[in-house]
Amino acid sequence: MHVKKLCLVDCVDKQFSLLYFISSRAILTVLYITYLLREFYILEKVLVAGGAGYIGSHVQKQLLDEGFKVIVYDDLSSGDIVNVLPGAEFIQANILDKDKLNNVMKDGVDAVIHLAAKKAVGESMVNPSLYAENNISGSINILNAMVENQVKYIVFSSSAAVYGMPQYCPIDEKHPINPINYYGYTKLAIEDNMRWFSQLGKLNYAALRYFNAVGYDADGAIRGKERNPQNLMPIIMEAATGKREKLSIFGNDYDTPDGTCVRDYVHVSDLAKAHTLALKYLMNKNTSFAVNLGTGRGTSVQEIVDATEKVIGKKLNYDFAPRRPGDPAKLTANADLAHQLLGWSPQYTNIEEIIQTVWNLEI
Ligand code: UDP
Repeated sequence: MHVKKLCLVDCVDKQFSLLYFISSRAILTVLYITYLLREFYILEKVLVAGGAGYIGSHVQKQLLDEGFKVIVYDDLSSGDIVNVLPGAEFIQANILDKDKLNNVMKDGVDAVIHLAAKKAVGESMVNPSLYAENNISGSINILNAMVENQVKYIVFSSSAAVYGMPQYCPIDEKHPINPINYYGYTKLAIEDNMRWFSQLGKLNYAALRYFNAVGYDADGAIRGKERNPQNLMPIIMEAATGKREKLSIFGNDYDTPDGTCVRDYVHVSDLAKAHTLALKYLMNKNTSFAVNLGTGRGTSVQEIVDATEKVIGKKLNYDFAPRRPGDPAKLTANADLAHQLLGWSPQYTNIEEIIQTVWNLEI
């Protein structure tokens, strides 16, 4: 009887120890996975410079959707406060303000996504000093504040403008780099600086070379429109809503199927997704890179106009004007590298569906 009792106690004891062993291992495993996730994927605090602008606000939304903490840093010179979403912290400041940048980063920023820039090509040729100051000096301020505060990762909004006149299409990253306008040069100068900072072991960067960004968030969360737009799609929308008398198509005598320029239009939410993928890649792989972001498909200005008429259900008022200086006939992206490195591929493939996301803001 006594022996039996001892045996029972021993048995319960063993089961309890086994249970204790398994549960403590399980807790340790959960803690370890949480640590890894925290370290590499979620809850990172990201400073989005230019986060109230057209592309920046979509990047902000993508980050919030994926569980990142977001600080939108924007001077609202072209961005719109309505684009700042409730989950994001907002700081109204300029990237020329070195003290502000330093103070924000001191508070524990893990990464920067930098989209704060002037982007009107024509203006950059007339007033290069403005672009040198805002785009180049402002970016160097960001890099310096990052180094000062040991912020290791930056995703930078670069542009196909770094390639200049295409020597072949679709353009891949091996295409010669030779910007033909000062705006494109500022993007190249910033890429060069990031490459040096990276080679000197200060940080890692991703340069995302956008082709033509179009569209709006399909959920309707981003509704701020650009003031004084220079790009085709917002100008078309102004012509469609009567805010502008008409659209002028710049040139119909190009060597393209319908004579108008062909571009690679990529949805802004697809672009936004590439930023979080790039950020995770940087955090995991500890390396730097530059990739194109485009669909690989070319669409002409005339095709955009025709598709818009279908979406809005009425004729657009437009005419043909002389060619715009510096416009290549065709510009499309080879984005295979972004696919290989980041697993990125654009989800929006239908131009009418893309235009519908813009038209939704008007109806
Ligand atoms: N475009 C046009 N009329 C306009 C604005 C743009 O015909 O009022 C054309 C422009 O010549 C180019 C295309 O639309 O072929 C896209 O121009 P956008 O300025 O949007 O982007 P870019 O290709 O210059 O970066």
